[in-house]
Amino acid sequence: MSYGIDIWGNDNFIIRDGKVKLTTLSQPAIIDIVKEIRSEGYTGPLLLRFPHLIKKQIHFMYSLFNQAIKEFQYKGKFQAVYPLKVNQFPNFVKNLVKLGEKYNYGLEAGSKAELILAMAYNNPKAPITVNGFKDREMIALGFIASEMGYNITLTIEGLNELESIIEIAKKRFGTVPNIGLRIRLHSSGTGIWAKSGGINSKFGLTSTELIVAVNALKEAKLLDHFSMIHFHIGSQISEIAPLKKALREAGNIYAELIKMGATNLQSINLGGGLAVEYSQYENKLHRNYTLQEYANDVVYLLREVALAKGVKEPNIFIESGRYIAAHHAVLVAPVLELFSQEYTEEKLDLKEINPPLIQELFDLYHTINARNALEYLHDSIDHMESLLTLFDLGYVDLQDRSNTEIFVNLIIKKAVDLLKDKQYKELLSIQERVQERYLVNFSIFQSLPDFWGLGQHFPIMPLDRLDEKPTRSASIWDITCDSDGEFSFNPKKPLFLHDVDLSKDDYFLGFFLVGAYQEVLGMKHNLFTHPTEMTVFVDDKGYKIENILESQSINDILEDLDYDVKEIQENLKEKIENSNLIEDSERKHILGEIYLLLNDNGYLKTIKSENHK
Ligand SMILES: *Cc1c(COP(=O)(O)O)cnc(C)c1O
Repeated sequence: MSYGIDIWGNDNFIIRDGKVKLTTLSQPAIIDIVKEIRSEGYTGPLLLRFPHLIKKQIHFMYSLFNQAIKEFQYKGKFQAVYPLKVNQFPNFVKNLVKLGEKYNYGLEAGSKAELILAMAYNNPKAPITVNGFKDREMIALGFIASEMGYNITLTIEGLNELESIIEIAKKRFGTVPNIGLRIRLHSSGTGIWAKSGGINSKFGLTSTELIVAVNALKEAKLLDHFSMIHFHIGSQISEIAPLKKALREAGNIYAELIKMGATNLQSINLGGGLAVEYSQYENKLHRNYTLQEYANDVVYLLREVALAKGVKEPNIFIESGRYIAAHHAVLVAPVLELFSQEYTEEKLDLKEINPPLIQELFDLYHTINARNALEYLHDSIDHMESLLTLFDLGYVDLQDRSNTEIFVNLIIKKAVDLLKDKQYKELLSIQERVQERYLVNFSIFQSLPDFWGLGQHFPIMPLDRLDEKPTRSASIWDITCDSDGEFSFNPKKPLFLHDVDLSKDDYFLGFFLVGAYQEVLGMKHNLFTHPTEMTVFVDDKGYKIENILESQSINDILEDLDYDVKEIQENLKEKIENSNLIEDSERKHILGEIYLLLNDNGYLKTIKSENHK
């Protein structure tokens, strides 16, 4: 069972010795890294960052574009910036900037806070672009970046921003940032994020506004600073055709603006949108092109338009974020419980005389074999339904009901195991009804918000036992109290997991491609916060774990909500001290317990406990 690793894995991971391993250098198994970290006391969900996977994507992007430029003898240059909104976390951004230095890879900012980050960390010679709605303060900040010596381009989203730039330019100290104009295309992307392009888009100047803008710049003697046009047709563009349309449109706008006198206009910025393959299923792919094709199309089409219009070939500027960031992070979460694991033979408590259907279940359970397994499975499920009806009508009691549930779950377990090597169609059709529920120590709202909000699929697989056939159709439950915190079993995109005895073994699930957008969009639902994270540098001898950042403590979470933590502690202390239910000697102990808890994170502890005997 490969869990589609050949489809989404990007050659970053390989299954060997039953484990998921990294394909680079010493090829460590993720599970071994996880076990090492846990042995140091970090339990709960873990977010592993792999800088070599950031490096790989950056390298890929530059080399494929430069290859296409060479192949088509294109005269423009390729440049890229990383859009900070995709992942602003320091242990990602700082590595990215360092790894991007030799490519002159820059940063893109969409807010004041992101611009401050860009100004603090960008490689000195690399470009900075600024998009999004800007007030005068943010524009002034762009001027400051320019005064600091950065090669910064402020992309104008509306004419009012242009007015501010013209005014501020008169007042400041002489250096003026490059100016970009965001164009409003009539073509737009496809996919669930396609709203940011198109004629009804939230952003960009119409053709009439573009003419007004160029004239205003001319009048203010700032036209020489106008160097870029920009568009962004949406994220995770699933098909290449809309991009091609957008490129033709943008190429023509570029040429027309040059003809209007914008002689320093030299770049077309394609924004982001380059898609990542998240699918685990061959028949459900999330994109219909590769980076190679994307790069070739961009270069070819821009060349064609420039030739036809008789203008110089534009520099190609891109702001792909998802493509760069998604691969680098893997979320690992421990399975806490299999829903049916509580149904054991020992818990059966049969009566002297049982209802006939329960007697029947008893017989099914004791005589099931490979030949009759499917039939018995069907029968037991039917019997359960009948017995539950009898319970509702008052004919059987709670003990009978308990015995029924235990028998049926035991029969399902046995049947699924007996049938594991057979590919019965009927077995597939029954999987939804016999699924096992895996309770996993993480929050979907915190760690996979796009699954919750958009139904975005992320590859899921166990980190070991991959040389054993997984037999249980699985649904995954997170530890929030919200019924939306669940990946339900979907027969069209089935997930099978192993039938593990958690009293003996640990079982970890990996959630892949979570490096883009998920972290900062994550919600503190139920006050579960960002998981413990670390950066793993793989080398030829093994790997090094650095920058461990433990999940926030309960104190810190409450402080973030603007609670006065001192007050909380005082309140708790007062109540404990005034309680007449406890002895004096016990108070100190209880206060100590509370203190430890407040300073620890809120995820569940998965160290095997007494109830797993
Ligand atoms: C969001 C955004 C990006 C990044 O998009 P991806 O799909 O992550 O590549 C780039 N540019 C702009 C203007 C954006 O708003």
